[in-house]
Amino acid sequence: MNQSKIVIVWFRRDLRLSDHLALEAASQQPAEILPVFCLDPALLESERTQSPRLAFMLQGLASLDHSLRQRGSRLVILRGKPKKVLAELIERVGASALFFNADYTPYARHRDETIVKALPIPVHRFDDALLHAPGEVLKANGEPYVVFTPFKRQWLTLTRRIIAEDYLEKARFYAVPEDIGQPIPTLAELNFRSASIEFPPVGEQAAQQRLQDFMQQNIYLYGESRNRLVAEPWRDTRSASSYLSPYFRFGMISPRQVYWAARDAYTRATQKSAKASVEAFVNELIWREFYMHIMYFYPHVTTRSFRTEYDDIEWADDPNGLQAWKDGITGYPIIDAAMRQLKAIGWMPNRARMIVASFLTKDLLIDWREGEKHFMQCLIDGDPAANNGGWQWAAGTGTDAQPYFRIFNPVSQSKKFDPEGEYIRFWVPELADLPLKFIHEPWKAPTLPKDYPPPIVDHQKARQRTLEAYKAIKS
Ligand SMILES: Cc1cc2nc3c(=O)[nH]c(=O)nc-3n(C[C@H](O)[C@H](O)[C@H](O)COP(=O)(O)OP(=O)(O)OC[C@H]3O[C@@H](n4cnc5c(N)ncnc54)[C@H](O)[C@@H]3O)c2cc1C
Repeated sequence: MNQSKIVIVWFRRDLRLSDHLALEAASQQPAEILPVFCLDPALLESERTQSPRLAFMLQGLASLDHSLRQRGSRLVILRGKPKKVLAELIERVGASALFFNADYTPYARHRDETIVKALPIPVHRFDDALLHAPGEVLKANGEPYVVFTPFKRQWLTLTRRIIAEDYLEKARFYAVPEDIGQPIPTLAELNFRSASIEFPPVGEQAAQQRLQDFMQQNIYLYGESRNRLVAEPWRDTRSASSYLSPYFRFGMISPRQVYWAARDAYTRATQKSAKASVEAFVNELIWREFYMHIMYFYPHVTTRSFRTEYDDIEWADDPNGLQAWKDGITGYPIIDAAMRQLKAIGWMPNRARMIVASFLTKDLLIDWREGEKHFMQCLIDGDPAANNGGWQWAAGTGTDAQPYFRIFNPVSQSKKFDPEGEYIRFWVPELADLPLKFIHEPWKAPTLPKDYPPPIVDHQKARQRTLEAYKAIKS
């Protein structure tokens, strides 16, 4: 590397300062660090980008900018194609190197390859977003795993990197002149509608706090409580799961910090059930990694079924059913509660995601890609790999797939996971006064509550139709 005074750290889905591998490496250079974020039109114009996640991200940028200002710098916002705007910035400040953390989606990989080739300065890429990057967890014959359990077994045998030592004290940040870059835009300036959503607290410090709170106590209850359907996750102190997903999505926390915090919690646990709970949590962290590996090695999943034979399923053309599902007016209270929660807060518990995904693909026989897209538009934690993996699992078209004949019954799922109807009453106020014995199946009440629709589909008949559609593929 030549001895220019400035190196650029390009932030992407890693909006934090601590345990950030690209930043750690940059801070070891005899140079000042210029922190940058590019608002890429390709992502802003994607139909998958909508206000909720974008608003969460913009607040994340403001939070990162605030932390950088405390260190005498600020986050430079560039708008335009990254290759072009980065090249202009490099020329303007005479930067000698670019540092960033890799992302593994097909779009990001292509973009980054092009940039590495085009830029006139050395580019340093780091595997930061996962504990084990694609290529590190392989079968003995060098092939990638396509089934979760053996992937996990192999993953667990590997040595994991520890959290980066505190490099921030030595890092020298560039005091960026005011005329470089643009202010962080508002949603309106980006031509998006406002997102009237109550977020959890945003940013790196909030993520650290959430992690700490979860590791105190609730991680030990995770095994039994993770399936609880929580109506107000950000307010309810009886956390059922970690609620870290929005922070993971934008790298407001590093996977190493979460993993090692869980390991500490494991060491502190005295009871077998508490240790098992921590293991169940780590299992989910491995699912996160597994789906990113799948998307990396099998990029066709972004548009097609992992098992491509399922591309031939005859999905129903049912715009009204799709709209009723999106609006939470299917007549199935558990589905409606979950879909309204998604719309209202941009998040849904894992169990609810599984139930509504099964309903869309199996009860309505609507193409999983419709649900996948809608989730990406609404979720603040919308992550291409985890979302795709979750949808293909529910549809039975993915890796390690739930066999297609296992079809969730929305009523029994509702009775099992919302036994008191608390979740339903909160999100479907039309049903708030219904006695418990009808809350999961209001059509059995002597009169259907005013303003609440009858079921749009008969589960038993729908189940039969789906079995036939899938069987047709098998044969
Ligand atoms: C249809 C469907 C769509 C989904 N879409 C997304 C999505 O867009 N973004 C997303 O982060 N997760 C998605 N998931 C996975 C899971 O529902 C969420 O990660 C989880 O609900 C987030 O809550 P939490 O942070 O409290 O999770 P916890 O249960 O506390 O788990 C800790 C972390 O592990 C990871 N994780 C947990 N479960 C899974 C899983 N099944 N697959 C991959 N990673 C997992 C997440 O990063 C999560 O934050 C989806 C699941 C389904 C069934």
